[in-house]
Amino acid sequence: MTSRYSKRLRALEAKGRLRKMIPLQHEGGLVRYRGRALLNLCSNDYLGLGQDTRLRQVFFQSLDSAECDLWGFAAASSRLLTGDNLLAHRLENEIREAYGSEDVLLFNSGYHANIGILPALFGKGDLVLSDKLNHASIHDGLVLSRAAHKRYRHGDYEQLHALLTRYRAEYEQVVIVTESVFSMDGDEVDLSRLLALKQEFDVKIYLDEAHGVGLYGENGLGKAEEKGVLQEIDFLVGTFGKALASVGAFICCSKEIRDYLVNHSRSLIFTTGLPPVTLNWNHFVFKKMLAMHQERKQISQIYRQLRDALKGKGIATRGSTNIVPVIVGKDRTALNMAEQMQELGYLVLPVRPPTVPEGTARFRFSICADMVWQDIEELPEKIERMLKGVCR
Ligand code: PMP
Repeated sequence: MTSRYSKRLRALEAKGRLRKMIPLQHEGGLVRYRGRALLNLCSNDYLGLGQDTRLRQVFFQSLDSAECDLWGFAAASSRLLTGDNLLAHRLENEIREAYGSEDVLLFNSGYHANIGILPALFGKGDLVLSDKLNHASIHDGLVLSRAAHKRYRHGDYEQLHALLTRYRAEYEQVVIVTESVFSMDGDEVDLSRLLALKQEFDVKIYLDEAHGVGLYGENGLGKAEEKGVLQEIDFLVGTFGKALASVGAFICCSKEIRDYLVNHSRSLIFTTGLPPVTLNWNHFVFKKMLAMHQERKQISQIYRQLRDALKGKGIATRGSTNIVPVIVGKDRTALNMAEQMQELGYLVLPVRPPTVPEGTARFRFSICADMVWQDIEELPEKIERMLKGVCR
């Protein structure tokens, strides 16, 4: 008898939606896949720090073997028990100073942060307004929260204004939750519109900078730094898993909120803390990232050039950042095109519903600091030919 799990898996496969894990071997900006070296165009290692073997050597050489308890692989307990250590506080302090925030609290990942902060801070009597394209971890955080929540159409500030006009008075506290750079559309939130709403309706702003940290702003602190509004964001979440080439996350907030989260955030309290070696590496890469002005400039030049070239060929793209999506519509088309791209030497993976809305399957290029324009200059023409059905 076929189990319901097999049936569901087959149904996914029939729709071209079966997800699989692919073990990859990384070689600098290239990945070895099915025996071939491909240019990795879907990495989140935006600053190229994850593949920088020299940097890793420098880091390991900097570790003093006499202090090897400071670079162990286990916290062995929650930070609320015996898993806390000075390295976590040193990292929080470094981030706090860079952002000029009152306080900072680490989480084990961006997922832990969003599912732990939202339910802890917002409950009965509160309303959370969340952009429809927000990351799954934000959505899951809202499912865990007792607060009422409504999702507004992506980037639709008119709808947000209407929702606030209608509902603000009914709730004690209202918060708008949004990503700064949307990972599947490569567009960005309009912070000035959000801050105007904050003023008008006395709401709080929760900003997830997972795809902004490292890339935007003079010191790479994200879109809020780029727009000069860091101090106006009530809750700013950053992650270490992307441009910072590690694992972990942080929230910049007030001291009161930090204390509250330490007492109420379940994904912080009931999990083992980050290991000392990771805390050390995070401190090392965070400091390095602050000074990577040249890399930020280079990424920005290349993604602008790619966006212009795609537009020049009439190829549908969206957004304004280093994440450059090409929307092709049908799941199968995205799947076929990604396979063709792989044959041409580029690692591109299809992005399909439910990660993106129905009918908007796509692939997305992420432009990283270890790329040069020559690596990708032929892409627009190749995509144009694929879309015309020439390149089969
Ligand atoms: N927020 C956003 C906007 C993300 O894109 C991601 C990861 N894709 C996360 C949070 C989760 O971060 P992490 O990978 O550190 O769990």
